Amino acid sequence: MATEKAVQFSKTGGTEVLEINDIPIPKIEKGQVLIKTVYAGVNFIDTYFRSGLYPVPAFPHTLGSEGAGIVEAVGDGVTKFKPGDNVVYMGSGTYREYSLVPERVVSHVPDGLKLEEAAAVLIQGLTALTMLRESYSVNKGDTILIHAAAGGTGLILVQLAKALGATIIATASTAEKLEIAKQHGADYLVNYSGGEDQWVKDVLAYTKNGEGVEAVYDGVGKATFEGDLKVTKRKGTLVSFGNASGSPDPFVIGRLGDKNIKLLRPRLFAYVATQEEFDHYTQELFGYIKNNQLKVNIHKIYPMQDIAQAHKDLEGRATTGKLVLKILQ
Ligand code: NDP
Repeated sequence: MATEKAVQFSKTGGTEVLEINDIPIPKIEKGQVLIKTVYAGVNFIDTYFRSGLYPVPAFPHTLGSEGAGIVEAVGDGVTKFKPGDNVVYMGSGTYREYSLVPERVVSHVPDGLKLEEAAAVLIQGLTALTMLRESYSVNKGDTILIHAAAGGTGLILVQLAKALGATIIATASTAEKLEIAKQHGADYLVNYSGGEDQWVKDVLAYTKNGEGVEAVYDGVGKATFEGDLKVTKRKGTLVSFGNASGSPDPFVIGRLGDKNIKLLRPRLFAYVATQEEFDHYTQELFGYIKNNQLKVNIHKIYPMQDIAQAHKDLEGRATTGKLVLKILQ
């Protein structure tokens, strides 16, 4: 039986549980595309599965949520792709040589975008875009807060929000990270490592009459959630979309009534659940890149064998922009 290499884990834990195993190459099926992955994107969610914060269906589990590569074969009924096409895709278990995915979650890589850039931008780009369009639809002139603004998702949020005409208050843990956020369009910079009282005060000082921001986009979670409630203005929106510092504590919804705040906990996959939605947002995302409104920032390309180091760097707050895995060829 033909086999391929895959990054898996058989029990949850630290990076020491990660192993590279030989697994069978999947057989092509109707409506599916078999892709030889060249690069896989590394996302924070991959660390949640590895650590056990999010459950996995079974062990051993293959990690990874997106990749870019070359179509190896297509199943019956597939019309948009043919062997040899350069594609980018979402899926479960993409830290591997060959992925079998439905045609619906695959897109051609547009001209001018490198494969590694495509692997770097799909999930974080679609997350940022769908949240700016649907979680809270950003209007020209809005003042919004973006946490962890120099991270992978953060830097895309900053650039897209800028393109949509927002005034951006960006947070990060170091002066260097804040400078990077500024270079990508952030208007006001707040270092949140001084603690909640300080960053809340600093953020409010940048808003009209100290009333707070129209919307908060927060992928940090536990460490920032309470402060978010303080800096969201009356009738504003709090978009809590991740747990880089841990999941926010359980929340009594009655508290929202103090300022009639809208609270969302969105997941990308529920925004791009149909072919139409996936195609619509993917094309819009690629449009920003083509128009030079969105630059793809790759922190580093790690060889597949160095996946443990990639997870350590991401969880250790040692990165800016996106981490990419070069799959063994
Ligand atoms: P990032 O590149 O943003 O890395 C996470 C950043 O979070 C760090 O660089 C760090 O920046 C900040 N951070 C704050 N506190 C901590 C902490 N205790 N430990 C580690 N990092 C911390 O990662 P991603 O762009 O991949 O993901 C960002 C968030 O977006 C994650 O929460 C992820 O789960 C979420 N996400 C959600 C999706 C959804 O569908 N809901 C889809 C995609 C991503 P600093 O040093 O500046 O504080």
